[in-house]
Amino acid sequence: MIKLINKTISAIIEIARGMATIMKHFFREPITLEYPEVKPVFNDRQRGRLALLTEADGSDTCIGCMTCTKVCPCGDLIQIKATRDRETKKVDVEEFTIDIGRCIFCGNCTEVCPKGAIVCTGQFELADYSRNKLVYDKKALTLSPEESERYRK
Ligand code: SF4
Ligand code: SF4
Repeated sequence: MIKLINKTISAIIEIARGMATIMKHFFREPITLEYPEVKPVFNDRQRGRLALLTEADGSDTCIGCMTCTKVCPCGDLIQIKATRDRETKKVDVEEFTIDIGRCIFCGNCTEVCPKGAIVCTGQFELADYSRNKLVYDKKALTLSPEESERYRK
């Protein structure tokens, strides 16, 4: 009999605790969002889609040093083709592709770049129907000079 009374009391206590938790959250603002109608707002350090910056005169900020390709933990997903002019010593970055579908957004490439030429934007909606479409070429990666100013450190 005493066992049954103890069990009943502990069940009532547990129900009361559960109800208290429900009531505590009942009057709070919801923290979930009706995505995609309502988009989340991230802070500036959000690591989203990668992008390449452009100088004010429209030239590439990237100098084709390949440092970003060496620190990427995902192998060969950054591909760069750059040539150096023998006379002017100027480097022309002809191709720059990133397979964003394999990127883990670690940010290593952005941290080591000596020119701050590659940055993480806040863009996070990158889904597509084909993996090939997630291989972004230089044109797709490059921001305009105006957009670049927003990301320059
Ligand atoms: S963010 Fe990380 S995984 Fe993605 S390209 Fe840069 S180094 Fe590679
Ligand atoms: S993005 Fe930066 S690290 Fe990568 S090749 Fe260009 S200058 Fe070098």
